[in-house]
Amino acid sequence: MRKYRLMSPGPTPVPEKVLLRMADTIIHHRTPQFGNILKDVNSKIKKVFSTKNPVFIFASSGTGAMEASVTGLLSKGDKALIINGGKFGERFGKICQAYGVKTVDYDVTWGESASPEIVKKLLKENPDIKAVYGTLCETSTGVVNDIKKIGEVVSVTDAVFVVDAISGLLADEFRPDDWGVDVVVCGSQKGFMLPPGLAFLSLGPKAEKLVEKSNLPKFYFDLKAAKKSHAKDDTPWTPAVSLITGLDSVLDMVLAEGLDNVLTRHARLARATREAVKAIGLEVFSKSPSNAVTAVKVPEGFDGTVLVKKMRDEQSITIAGGQSELKGKIFRIAHLGYMDEYDTIGAIAGVEIVLSQMGYPIELGKGVGKAQELLK
Ligand SMILES: *Cc1c(COP(=O)(O)O)cnc(C)c1O
Repeated sequence: MRKYRLMSPGPTPVPEKVLLRMADTIIHHRTPQFGNILKDVNSKIKKVFSTKNPVFIFASSGTGAMEASVTGLLSKGDKALIINGGKFGERFGKICQAYGVKTVDYDVTWGESASPEIVKKLLKENPDIKAVYGTLCETSTGVVNDIKKIGEVVSVTDAVFVVDAISGLLADEFRPDDWGVDVVVCGSQKGFMLPPGLAFLSLGPKAEKLVEKSNLPKFYFDLKAAKKSHAKDDTPWTPAVSLITGLDSVLDMVLAEGLDNVLTRHARLARATREAVKAIGLEVFSKSPSNAVTAVKVPEGFDGTVLVKKMRDEQSITIAGGQSELKGKIFRIAHLGYMDEYDTIGAIAGVEIVLSQMGYPIELGKGVGKAQELLK
């Protein structure tokens, strides 16, 4: 028997306390009991999002909120700027195409962060752009983007700035209200330490104007309906009752630890992971690494898919491989949510063992020692 260790950038492990809370009796959602929980959640989640804006909660994976940020804001024939530096930036473009929104595509080299200067130039060349879609942590490459600088550029134009913070929130610093971000989308199964199944969307005043005018087809993810219900601490459809009660516990845990302390914890684990893999002789893939997940280059001549498979099947540690063009070329270790020093050290130990089994020249303990040094 081996313990199951989930070290992927989503889903992430769920604290036992939260699992127990979610195992409680399912109460009816149109009751004062559930209404009180939702009211509490609605107020606490704003603190975790560092925003004054309302945060809507959907019963869907994160992509549902991404889709809502397109269908809820835009209209037929509108133009959007897509900052695409990986699988998730690309997804915003695909959603826009599915709904007939014209896109201006800023393709960022994978592993690099987006340049605020290029965003500025594209906005100048296309003054009719209604919305800019960006990503805080591009999970597929382990890159954190400079949302603050991009926000400075977007906020002086008429365009609204939508940021996918699905994996970045609670791991990388993010101050949407101060940084000119109008809409934030997020999901439950990453930094929020919950099972998959909830999506979040915060809506600022500049974006609300677009919501009023938007005519793209929509029903389930209707932001006008969400806003109307939210004002009464209610939801338009049946909410995911058990996930929302779990969220109530998570928000208490995060606020008790303190947002800054949560960020510091992620930064510490991420740094230890980066330095440990360097000590093994490997290279960090991202030029601007996120504290949510570390993407590591697989050494020349070795197959990353084998490494990830051996980690999962033989060591019982689930990490992530590379997607699309990075398949087999990188592996990704998360430091996201309910993870601590010993999870990080364990993952590094597993990587060392598997690499040595694969014939990579390695002195066992080099990475582990480095991580211990940084985490003691
Ligand atoms: C995980 C993730 C998503 C997708 O979320 P789903 O819950 O799988 O729909 C979107 N964007 C980023 C950056 C992510 O990490």
